[in-house]
Amino acid sequence: MQTVTTLAELRLALERLPGPVGFVPTMGYLHAGHVSLAERARKECASVVASIFVNPTQFGPNEDLAKYPRDLPRDLALLEAAGVDLVWTPTPEVVYPPGFQTWVTVEGLTSPLEGAQRPGHFCGVTTVVAKLFNAVGPQKAYFGQKDAQQAAVIRRMTKDLDFPIEIVVCPTVRAADGLAMSSRNTYLNPEERQAATVLFRSLTAAKAAYETGERDAERLRQIMRDAINAEPLVRLQYVSCADYDTLEELTQVTGKSLLSMAVFVGKTRLIDNFVIGE
Ligand code: AMP
Repeated sequence: MQTVTTLAELRLALERLPGPVGFVPTMGYLHAGHVSLAERARKECASVVASIFVNPTQFGPNEDLAKYPRDLPRDLALLEAAGVDLVWTPTPEVVYPPGFQTWVTVEGLTSPLEGAQRPGHFCGVTTVVAKLFNAVGPQKAYFGQKDAQQAAVIRRMTKDLDFPIEIVVCPTVRAADGLAMSSRNTYLNPEERQAATVLFRSLTAAKAAYETGERDAERLRQIMRDAINAEPLVRLQYVSCADYDTLEELTQVTGKSLLSMAVFVGKTRLIDNFVIGE
């Protein structure tokens, strides 16, 4: 496995890799969720490229950029074990050189949910992913269902900007108690870690209600709210029962839909989602 930092090094290394190339963009501090994307890419592609870049432009001013966890040696060992061929670890100066002033914006889909709570977040995401796509030029790119709105936004951008890249969305990998793997779980103390299982429990309760015939979207949102409000260490930011494609809030569930939420467990912000009506 080769590791490169500059664009020139990346381009040289890519020349030697046979296609199709599968690409796994990450912010590092890798866990089993990231590894599952790399393993899927390994199965489906001749070469696998991963990137590790904590993208400053997708963090808000009061978010956790400065303390975002990092462990490059461990990350590289995990990626090598997953069969990755090339890792790109650009510095902020490589991605955003002096004078940088070009941004990629997806409208509409970025308005609700995460977009409403994190102004500017998706503009940072789409701008960096567009740059990573241009630099790596993969045939396939792998994203996690854990970040459902991000996957929808990237799919839209890929279509709208004619990137010849297939977007593959992989299932959310969870701990044994249901908590979705996240680099941010590392911020949780033992009591918070226990309380954080309420995301999975509330989604499970709403899904069970759906499966026994509940189609009223507000009822499903209320089931999730009630579960979360019963957990004293957890503060609800939003719950949603939205159309899977448009992400618009529903009154009735009639087709493929997304149950999703964001909560604060202490100071740590966590998100999770389930798809229903598939
Ligand atoms: P991040 O490093 O948080 O930017 O995540 C990099 C990629 O890994 C994104 O496509 C995420 O959606 C995906 N990912 C993060 N957590 C999980 C998980 N628990 N299961 C599957 N994919 C995940």
